[in-house]
Amino acid sequence: MSDHSAVVVGAGIVGLAAARALALKGYTVDLFERNPVATGASIRNFGMVWPVGQPAGELYNRALRTRHIWEHLAKAAGIWSDPVGSLHVAHTEDEWTVLREIHDQFLSEGRAVEILDAAALHRKSAIAIQKTARGGLYSPDELIVDPRQAIRLLPAYLSEKYPIRFHWGKPVTQVSGGQVIVEKKKMQADLIMICSGSDFETLYPLEFAAYPLTKCKLQMMRFMPEEKNQRIGAALCGGLSLIHYNSFKQAPSWEKLKRRFEMEMPDYIRKGIHVMVSQNETGALTIGDSHEYGLSPDPFDRQEINQWILEYLWTFADLKNARFIESWNGVYAKLTNGGADLFFSPEPGVYILNATGGAGMTLSFGLAEDRLSSILF
Ligand SMILES: Cc1cc2nc3c(=O)[nH]c(=O)nc-3n(C[C@H](O)[C@H](O)[C@H](O)COP(=O)(O)OP(=O)(O)OC[C@H]3O[C@@H](n4cnc5c(N)ncnc54)[C@H](O)[C@@H]3O)c2cc1C
Repeated sequence: MSDHSAVVVGAGIVGLAAARALALKGYTVDLFERNPVATGASIRNFGMVWPVGQPAGELYNRALRTRHIWEHLAKAAGIWSDPVGSLHVAHTEDEWTVLREIHDQFLSEGRAVEILDAAALHRKSAIAIQKTARGGLYSPDELIVDPRQAIRLLPAYLSEKYPIRFHWGKPVTQVSGGQVIVEKKKMQADLIMICSGSDFETLYPLEFAAYPLTKCKLQMMRFMPEEKNQRIGAALCGGLSLIHYNSFKQAPSWEKLKRRFEMEMPDYIRKGIHVMVSQNETGALTIGDSHEYGLSPDPFDRQEINQWILEYLWTFADLKNARFIESWNGVYAKLTNGGADLFFSPEPGVYILNATGGAGMTLSFGLAEDRLSSILF
C-alpha cells in the first residue's frame, strides 16, 4: 500500500486514464462513478484511436503514446483491438489536391503515410468506391477498439493490476477542503481528480463557468454489412473529413476546399457533418457523425441528419445494402477556443481534467500522464 491517496470522479476514459496514471505514480485510488456502469461519451464513440487527426508536435506524440498504451492494455485486459489504419478518400479534384499536399506534409513530419491512386484503394479497403474516386491517403497509425467492450473491461483489469477501487452508482455531490462527499459520507484524499466529462453543473460549476466551454452533440448509427463476416479494412472517411481535423489545415489548398463545401453543402456544414466508418469485432459498422454545439444539447435526434450522413456515405462507400441496427447520440465537452483539454485546480489538492477536443479515446492515456507529471514530480 502506498502512503498517498487519491479520489477520481468519473469512470469514462479520462477518469480511467487518470486512475491508471495516479496508480503508476504510487497513489492508492478510489474512483467514484455515479452510474452503475459508465454510459457517457466514452461508450458512445467510434472507438477510433486516431493520431492522423492530430497536428504535429505535442498532440500527435500524445496520440501515438496513447495508442501504444491501448495496445498494451488491450493485450493485458483481453480487449479487442484492430490496427487497421485509416483511409481518407478523394472524389473531386480539390479533395485530391488537399490529400496529396497533406501526404507531402505528413511525410516531412515522419508519418508513414501512403498515397494510393483509385485503382489501388482496394488494397486497403473492401468498401471504398473506386469508380468515381481520384485516390486516397492511407495512414497505418490508427487503431480501432470497441468502446462498449473496452470501457467495461478496463476497470476489471485496472483494479486487479493496481491499487484502484471502483465505486459504482456513487455520485460525488460535493468536493471541498480535500474531501469528497458521497451519499452524505465524507472521504479524505491527498489528491482529488474530477473527470466529469460534459457535466460542468454538479461540481465547481462557477469555476467551470470561467472557461469558454460548451457541449457538442453527435448523432451516430450502427449497421451490419450485407455479407456475413465481411471485414472492411481500414477505417474509412470521405472528403468532408478533410476539413474536420486540425492536422489537415496546413495543406495550402485547405481553405479553398472548405469554402467549396460551405457553398455547395451548407446543411452539412451547419450540422458539422463529416462521415466516417469503423468496424468492431462482431463486424458491426459504426457510422457518423454530426456536431451540434450548445450548453443544452437537443435530446431528440433528427432523422434528416442521419439521412444526410448516409447519403454522403454512399458517395464513397459501397454500403447501400448494409442493415440498420441502431442509432444514438453522444455529448462531449468542448472548449470554444479549440483547446484539446482543460486542466485546472479550483482549490488546493483538487484538479479538473477534461478532454475537450472530441478525441478522448485518442489522447487520454497520454494526457493523464502528462498532466500528472506537471504537478507531481
Ligand atoms: C459520438 C461520439 C463519437 C466520438 N468518437 C471518438 C473517436 O472515435 N475517437 C476519439 O478519440 N474520441 C471520440 N469521441 C470523443 C471521446 O468519446 C470523448 O473525448 C471521451 O469519451 C470523453 O471522456 P470523459 O471520460 O471525459 O467523458 P465521459 O465518458 O462522458 O465520462 C464522464 C463520466 O463521469 C461521470 N460523472 C460525472 N459527474 C459525476 C459525479 N459528480 N460523480 C460521479 N460520476 C460522475 C459520468 O457519469 C461519466 O461516466 C467521440 C465522442 C462522441 C460523443
